[in-house]
Amino acid sequence: MTSTASPLSLYLHIPFCQTKCTYCAFNTYTNLNALIEPFVEALIREVEIVAGSKSNATLGTIFFGGGTPSLLNPRQIESILKSIYRCFVVLPDAEISLEANPNDLDYSYLAELRVLGINRLSIGMQTAHGNELVLFARRHSNDMVVRAVTAARRAGFDNLNLDLIYGFPHQTLGSWESSLCQMLALRPEHTSLYALGLEAGTPMAAWVARGRLPCPDDDLTADMYELATTVLARAGYSQYEISNWSRPGYTSRHNLQYWRNLPYIGLGPGAHGFADGIRYSTLLAPQRYIKVMESESSHHDFPCTPATEHAVMVDRAGEIAETLMMGLRLTQEGIRRRTFFQRFGVDVLELHAPLIERFVGYELLYVDDEVIRLTQRGRLLSNVVFRELI
Ligand code: SF4
Repeated sequence: MTSTASPLSLYLHIPFCQTKCTYCAFNTYTNLNALIEPFVEALIREVEIVAGSKSNATLGTIFFGGGTPSLLNPRQIESILKSIYRCFVVLPDAEISLEANPNDLDYSYLAELRVLGINRLSIGMQTAHGNELVLFARRHSNDMVVRAVTAARRAGFDNLNLDLIYGFPHQTLGSWESSLCQMLALRPEHTSLYALGLEAGTPMAAWVARGRLPCPDDDLTADMYELATTVLARAGYSQYEISNWSRPGYTSRHNLQYWRNLPYIGLGPGAHGFADGIRYSTLLAPQRYIKVMESESSHHDFPCTPATEHAVMVDRAGEIAETLMMGLRLTQEGIRRRTFFQRFGVDVLELHAPLIERFVGYELLYVDDEVIRLTQRGRLLSNVVFRELI
């Protein structure tokens, strides 16, 4: 079952945003800045509780995600980090990432983050075009992204991720190529490219449903993905996951933990976690989160805390299915047959022999003695493969 040899990862969900982007369905809230201070105290309490139920737990990565973690001031980030270092064993080379909005990032803020030990910054660029940023109701301009990256470099960040979105209404292949090129001109170490998902409850989904915006074109979205694959390869980036590319040595260690289906703790409202065979999520509302963390003192078994709302024990079949689905997202590593055998005591090929043979015949999967992974064609049709395999 789950390897206990590898260190844990820690995800901290910061559920505040200054404004809500039109495509976003994450658990984030606006106009709640007054809650940030009590939230930080509650989060520290949750760190202490979860670490208290697992002695000597070791962390290999820490990720401040959201939401907009860059709304926290350096003192608040410092107090959270101090509690983590007090309660866990943190590896000396731990990857410590923070997601940020470009308009929150000036040199003095970034320099303080760097001193605190944040060593990877993930900046939400989304597009290089002003009209598209307006469609998304983003708070920043492309100039702000350029200034943020310049300031981050000056502050000593040598591991930057830039996110872009593609496949949204009115976007053309030309505007996508231009966003890609402007992003690449900033020379990030890592980039994540996300196809827009029309999430229920978002303004973007409502506009498309009412015909105010055209429905994204699947064929055009596939063309955009292929274009990105070519442009990024030419620029020296290596694709290691369906939506992620990096320069050599800069894969996201935190996200690799998810895709390898290895254990991670999720803290904060709306966070998810998977540890000791339990997959769980925490309650959503920040107000309730703060209240619960203030009042509850009863003991909880790791990895649960007073904020845990749903928790299920993942059985062997479930863990195998999740490991297959997430491992196949890793476009180079795929699923290592030996690692899979060591974990589950069975060769992955024996589990789904006829199906895998069929997908190999369709050139959607590649298999050799060591690995099973998606082909280039399989990456475009990954949903079909996942649906049938799981
Ligand atoms: S900043 Fe990020 S988390 Fe906040 S609303 Fe926009 S996309 Fe969602």
